[in-house]
Amino acid sequence: MNLEEKQRRLKEIANQVERCRKCSLWKNLKAVPGEGNPEAEIMLIGEAPGYHESVQGKPFVGAAGQLLTQLLKSIGLERTQVFICNILKHRPPENRDPLPQEVEACTPFLDEQIEIVDPKIIVTLGRFSLNKFLPHEYISKIHGQARFIDFGGLPAGRQGKERIIIPMYHPAAALRSSIIMEEIKKDFQKISQFLSEEINLSAEKQLPDKEVEKKSKQMSFL
Ligand code: SF4
Repeated sequence: MNLEEKQRRLKEIANQVERCRKCSLWKNLKAVPGEGNPEAEIMLIGEAPGYHESVQGKPFVGAAGQLLTQLLKSIGLERTQVFICNILKHRPPENRDPLPQEVEACTPFLDEQIEIVDPKIIVTLGRFSLNKFLPHEYISKIHGQARFIDFGGLPAGRQGKERIIIPMYHPAAALRSSIIMEEIKKDFQKISQFLSEEINLSAEKQLPDKEVEKKSKQMSFL
């Protein structure tokens, strides 16, 4: 898919999100479909827009967003080089946790965005984002580690694709805890390493599963 086609399809999704009434969250301020480079190698996925995001219609623009921008800068990346979005495209009231039915209703938009941007690496920010891809994992256990998954979340009839997921804490959690702040800073430093490693790993995808799994564990830098 060329750049023009990616831009057109992402815009189409943003329009659909703005008109969406699949759950009651549409009533809460502006839609926040997500934004960034349609050809990004890295996609960062959070949980849901907060108040500031819902006012501006942009993802990660509040205090957590400023931290995210700093973390990206710390590894030499501008926000314009990555794609940033959330599991939910509208804000849950009082920043409550997303409900399962809301996640289910909203997920097809994110799945389409992943298919279009086709990032090499997906960085999940927080528990809800992690559990979309790895439903039985705990963030405290696997943050900062790369995992291969066969992402089959696309609409029926379309093929899934093997992708690298790097789970991280949500920046909002880092603002509340100095321990998590240190962890997220260290985890971000690993992203560029993973990006260069990914090229080698792609060549190894023909290896038996156990070998790929072994290499994936080596990448965890534990
Ligand atoms: S949160 Fe998602 S499913 Fe719910 S109204 Fe907004 S776009 Fe639609």
